[in-house]
Amino acid sequence: MMMKKFIYLDNAATTKTSPTVVEAMLPYFSDYYGNASGIYEIGVKSKEAISKSRERIASTLGAKPEEIYFTGGGSESDNWALKAVAEANGGIMTAGTEPAREGALFHPAIRDDTGLAPVKNHIITTKIEHHAILHTCEYLEKRGMEVTYLNVDENGLVNPRELEHAIRPQTGLISVMFANNEVGTIQPIREIGEIAKRHGILFHTDAVQAYGQLPIDVEALHIDLLSASAHKLNGPKGVGFLYIRRNIRIQSLIHGGAQERKRRAGTENVPGIVGFGQAAREAVDTMAERTAYERELRDYLIDRILREIPYTRLNGHRTKRLPNNANFSFQFIEGESLLILLDMEGICASSGSACTTGSLDPSHVLLALGLPDDIAHGSLRLTLSAETTREEIDTAVEAIKRIVERLRSMSPQYEDFCRHSPSQF
Ligand SMILES: *Cc1c(COP(=O)(O)O)cnc(C)c1O
Repeated sequence: MMMKKFIYLDNAATTKTSPTVVEAMLPYFSDYYGNASGIYEIGVKSKEAISKSRERIASTLGAKPEEIYFTGGGSESDNWALKAVAEANGGIMTAGTEPAREGALFHPAIRDDTGLAPVKNHIITTKIEHHAILHTCEYLEKRGMEVTYLNVDENGLVNPRELEHAIRPQTGLISVMFANNEVGTIQPIREIGEIAKRHGILFHTDAVQAYGQLPIDVEALHIDLLSASAHKLNGPKGVGFLYIRRNIRIQSLIHGGAQERKRRAGTENVPGIVGFGQAAREAVDTMAERTAYERELRDYLIDRILREIPYTRLNGHRTKRLPNNANFSFQFIEGESLLILLDMEGICASSGSACTTGSLDPSHVLLALGLPDDIAHGSLRLTLSAETTREEIDTAVEAIKRIVERLRSMSPQYEDFCRHSPSQF
């Protein structure tokens, strides 16, 4: 199928599957299609391939292979971490009635002298998490959990002191994303991990955007649970993993067969897991060079947009941000209109706002950064890849300049604004 030429600047939404990843996956569709539980050769081949992927991925995190559990993607990993820890801590099912029974969760820091773990029905998270975390928290709140949603500053940073302040005797889990998918801000994960450790609280991080982009060491950062997804790092869609530190006992989210050491049932997605292993290896092997390239191109993009388009702001932290993320707000325009016009010029981008049932809700992330509604509405996210070229960035910048100018010329607010401050023009 021939597609018209386009410029893809939406790599935070998903990425192109790398040709070498596809190549690594192909034999597991056509030749080694055996069920990994089979005792015959093609089943054993599948099983070996899964083990190899697990080892590769573990090595990228400073983890042990038996701490990596393959899932159906980032959303599943996030759901599993939050729901299973809440249950193990007695926050749901037994909430308010009796303490969680021994055997629910063996995390040494959490058990008291009686051997009975006290109910830990409180979660601390942030207002800027992905919906896979936020909607899971809302679900848990309806079942007796209490959730603190931390504010962030104007750059999207969590304040570790504020986080420590929010800790209660009942806090059983802290879940803070590694890096934000909309504005790219990277959180002080090490500090948060240290606080969690000091208080004997489990620490989960949604690292779906960070994994493959930033170096991660679960030991050094004191991470207990970590979610990642293959399709954000040039791997296939529909496969992810949850890292679960070895001494943590949580229940399965998906019940059934004995796959993934009885903790995630379902016939393994062998080609997907092989693809994830290959993508992880490529991402980590090329990380330094690739992210240096992306960072330079990102800064070029940011500088041009801020310099050449007035009444524009960069959303997210200027330096503590993902190497490939740029997010802008253009005053006096609607992000959706900008996106549609960019699409007509073959430029794939994304806005901060999610279009739900016909009404345009501004992004919860931009609102948490303190942006007023109208400015949050005029936002645009551009996320680059190693394949993005300077020519493509130049083309995109020229198109954005032209479209923003055109949309503003049709905006009554802009007209009004110009009339009241004519000296500026
Ligand atoms: C994409 C994304 C997810 C969801 O991952 P899927 O594999 O698409 O389910 C979760 N968290 C963050 C931060 C993401 O960017």
